[in-house]
Amino acid sequence: MRILVVEDEKRIADFLTRGLQGAGYAVDTAADGATAVEFIHSTDYDLVILDLMLPDMDGLKVLERVRSRKVGPPVMILSARGQVDDRVKGLEQGADDYLVKPFAFVELLARVRALLRRGQPAPEKLQVADLTVDCVRRKVMRNGETIDLAPKEFGILEYMMRNKGRPLSRTMIVEHVWDMDYDGLTNIVDVYIRHLRSKIDDRFPLKLIQTVRGIGYMIEAPDKPAAVPPAAPAAERQV
Ligand code: CA
Repeated sequence: MRILVVEDEKRIADFLTRGLQGAGYAVDTAADGATAVEFIHSTDYDLVILDLMLPDMDGLKVLERVRSRKVGPPVMILSARGQVDDRVKGLEQGADDYLVKPFAFVELLARVRALLRRGQPAPEKLQVADLTVDCVRRKVMRNGETIDLAPKEFGILEYMMRNKGRPLSRTMIVEHVWDMDYDGLTNIVDVYIRHLRSKIDDRFPLKLIQTVRGIGYMIEAPDKPAAVPPAAPAAERQV
């Protein structure tokens, strides 16, 4: 899940970015309206958090531009302008939610999750064989055992689970789980997949994360357990 935070006040932008990243989301920030519009047109965001008072334009103008797209991401307005008029105007112009500053991060996070749920009719509990992912509580279990994942590991697993049975390229995974500050190689995906495998697959006979030669990775329950302990050929391990 990738979120764009449009906020010119660096302190708030940093606070939001840290909090949302801690909750496992990929976060980009735009400090003015023009940058926000540019980002929204070039990237497929799952949610936009929008401040209204921006240095170059009114946030509502940004909202207008988002809504002019056929399928735009949900937008949550974040503003110190808490007057009823402002709220009504924002919601009338197509915002999906409105949060007045100052706010508690837990409240923001609860609303972010609600909005992402709304935009995503997919079930909140994802399952492949005996592996379950609770996207709301961010809890992963396999065979009745709780598994702790780092935020990026969780992000990759959730993305794969939502696309189970579908091969995903490293680029797709990076674009979905990392923000644009990351300009490294897609090989990072291999590193994370190794971590994920060690946590969710290695101890179990049924291997769920599949390497798809020439493409990337996919999660799917195989027909039968692997007969031999998995040792990826050198070519596939190469980074
Ligand atoms: Ca502002």
